[in-house]
Amino acid sequence: MAKERTLSIIKPDATRRNLTGKINARFEDAGLRIVAQKRLWLTRGQAEAFYGVHKERAFFNDLCDFMVSGPVVAQVLEGDNAVAKNREVMGATNPAQADAGTIRKDFAESIEANSVHGSDSAENAAIEIAFFFSEIEIVG
Ligand code: ADP
Ligand code: MG
Repeated sequence: MAKERTLSIIKPDATRRNLTGKINARFEDAGLRIVAQKRLWLTRGQAEAFYGVHKERAFFNDLCDFMVSGPVVAQVLEGDNAVAKNREVMGATNPAQADAGTIRKDFAESIEANSVHGSDSAENAAIEIAFFFSEIEIVG
């Protein structure tokens, strides 16, 4: 399996509850390496741009409000099959449907405040990584 990179975001519900380290341990325990990481408070414009693919969805405005309600931690995870591996570690979007032992099952507050974002394809991972990081900031 080829080494791959994916974009992860620890969302405001998780930073508010001081869960960054516990969530990072889940990634590392699954064999994913955190090869870039920064904590930032998104502007409304940045949140809308990042979630632009969802702008027609009913939850878009609430989602953007939530994403600017506190700091986030943006990170690049690297490893074999990193996109799929990260989605597996995260669990389903709705924590009520997430498998036992996943981040969202153990930490998410709701389908919206679900603690983590992870890219859904290698193609989107490349776009989302470039949204937050320049190549010089990613050290594998
Ligand atoms: P995922 O984050 O699992 O890839 P989506 O890309 O479908 O899920 O949705 C992006 C984010 O929008 C979700 O992580 C969640 O925070 C929010 N969201 C998705 N569906 C809903 C919904 N039905 N109601 C409220 N928020 C939602
Ligand atoms: Mg998604």
